[in-house]
Amino acid sequence: TTLRLRAAAHRPGHTRDGRRVEVAANIDTPDAARNAVSCGAEGAGLVRTELLFLRARQPPSVAEQAEYYRWVAQQLPGARVVFRTMDIGADKPLPFAERGTEANPALGLRGLRLGLGQPQLLRDQLRAVLRAARSCTDPSQRLAVMFPMVTTCAEIRRAQEILAEAAEAERAGIADIDVGIMVEVPAAALATDRLAPLVDFVSLGTNDLVQYLFAADRTNAAVAGIPELCTPEVLQLVRGVVAAGHRSGARVAVCGETAADPLTAAALVGAGVDELSAAPPAIPQIKAVLARLDAVRLTEIVAEASTLDSAEAVRDRLTAELAGAV
Ligand code: PEP
Ligand code: MG
Repeated sequence: TTLRLRAAAHRPGHTRDGRRVEVAANIDTPDAARNAVSCGAEGAGLVRTELLFLRARQPPSVAEQAEYYRWVAQQLPGARVVFRTMDIGADKPLPFAERGTEANPALGLRGLRLGLGQPQLLRDQLRAVLRAARSCTDPSQRLAVMFPMVTTCAEIRRAQEILAEAAEAERAGIADIDVGIMVEVPAAALATDRLAPLVDFVSLGTNDLVQYLFAADRTNAAVAGIPELCTPEVLQLVRGVVAAGHRSGARVAVCGETAADPLTAAALVGAGVDELSAAPPAIPQIKAVLARLDAVRLTEIVAEASTLDSAEAVRDRLTAELAGAV
């Protein structure tokens, strides 16, 4: 069966009733980049760039970053590759980013907030992605940047100003790359109808979204049982983000690691997402699950599940529907 899973993993992801759901890779390391295509990744929905910064005592130069981004892109020929700008802070503290101590780092200066506070760092990273895009010789390949921890429209506008400065410095056009945001702060999820028109795509960061939604620290084992995607609250929120994103023509992805769980993948398909991005080894299984799902039917089930009164009820409802399918 492993062989059969592997063979099927190289077909584009879609459900049994023909809904297209792209399955992409989350890439944290060079190894993950090397393995993505052989696991069946149709692109990279999230390239975490923190590693470059973590290793260094000084921020990496534009040239060093561009070289790594170009190399990652080359591992996924012809595919869409989304580079997330450094998500520094909270669970990803960095040596050279002196931020003083924060009582609640997860609620502090992290992600895009930190990038806007240190625009030189963000500008250099955007220059590097633009440079990698320009040196990319594959016309079918599209590179993108994605900003983490976005909360407001004003933050997006400021980030786009910095992108315009980066493009000018690189003598590139901002149209050379796509621009997206992560939706991982509940306020952003509720404001997607205002945020999405400013960008090309949104990607739900369900790891952080559930942590903030349920006020349950993702790194605290004592509350590890609380955050869960298959809950009425999360499904209600995700359905809202998908609807708002689609109204403005933005593509809606999920790049939290949760899609690797079959019931969760089914719930996300029922919520209407266009893309699931997960660690490469999870991809064959996700595609196999998709191929057994009926998206039309799941859309009804998830609409109903989002009104139930507990996570157990949601799981029972999905399990009953999917009996034998996943
Ligand atoms: C997320 O928050 O869901 C996400 C994909 O980003 P990270 O896990 O890197 O915070
Ligand atoms: Mg996150």
